[in-house]
Amino acid sequence: MKISEAGGERAIIKLIRDQFGSPAEGDLALGIGDDAALIRSGDMFLIVTTDMLLENTHFRMELIDGYQLGWKSAAVNISDVAAMGGTPTYSFVSIGLPDIEIGVVESIYEGIRDVSAKYGSVLAGGDTVASAAGIVINVVQLGKVSPDMVLRRDCAKPGDAILVTNTIGDSRAGLELLLRFGLSEARRASESCVRSHLQPEPRVSEAQAAAGTGKVNSMMDLSDGLASDLQKLCIASGVGAGIHSKQLPVSSDMSIAAARLDLDPTRLATAGGEDYELLLTCRPKSAPQIIEAIAATGSSACVIGEITQERDVVLIMPDGAVEPIGESWEHF
Ligand SMILES: [Mg+2]
Repeated sequence: MKISEAGGERAIIKLIRDQFGSPAEGDLALGIGDDAALIRSGDMFLIVTTDMLLENTHFRMELIDGYQLGWKSAAVNISDVAAMGGTPTYSFVSIGLPDIEIGVVESIYEGIRDVSAKYGSVLAGGDTVASAAGIVINVVQLGKVSPDMVLRRDCAKPGDAILVTNTIGDSRAGLELLLRFGLSEARRASESCVRSHLQPEPRVSEAQAAAGTGKVNSMMDLSDGLASDLQKLCIASGVGAGIHSKQLPVSSDMSIAAARLDLDPTRLATAGGEDYELLLTCRPKSAPQIIEAIAATGSSACVIGEITQERDVVLIMPDGAVEPIGESWEHF
């Protein structure tokens, strides 16, 4: 049976989990299944996460420049450290390269350097190999967090309010613009949507501000899209969720891009991936305090729905109709 027939990425992760479990043994406090693993280190947790970007699966070189590719490769990993409530520290970057212009390689590392410096991380090592299969970039990102600041995705409780930071769907709108019109025309159509897709900002200070309130029950970052990621949070927590479509935070740039693309902005916001915003839950009465803490970082946050006892994840339309929230972004 092929991977695609067995259930795609989910089947692979299940296969790995069946063999290794999610052990919390020795100094490993949290294994497979969250945004990152946690390893006890003195009175802190060491955060470890890794993500791989593959040419023609995650990016196409005619639609992204080397600098943005480097930036994004590191940013998506820093985002996973942020999602645990942590501070990025060191990274290890392994890269597979076809025989491309050396200037492109230089640009990739400039992007990695700049996003790392911006969020306080330092490149500490890595590996380089020749690749016959396009550019491959694998980043291992380390971070640290004190045990009382850790936020996981498996602690959402029925009745919790669900919040997201800033706006969602911009990145997917940017991707659709790029695929439809190519880089220069897409940038003319919406510089901000294209930038959201090619050069995302990990929400490190927002996550720490939220964690600092002590009121967040669960948190993760939005990498695969709200529909998919909220379902992961709900499965991990043994709960369900209802999202109010009219409360989804959508930027005016995204709405304009959606109209131009003839796509539904609600669908872009729920099914679109790579927002790298934060998804978090808390008791409803704590939401204003968390929103205020996030606002102090210069970002925004809003309530989009609530965690439910029933284990399905649904979208509640303005007329009260209830729909399944939809499908995830699937690579295989
Ligand atoms: Mg994540």
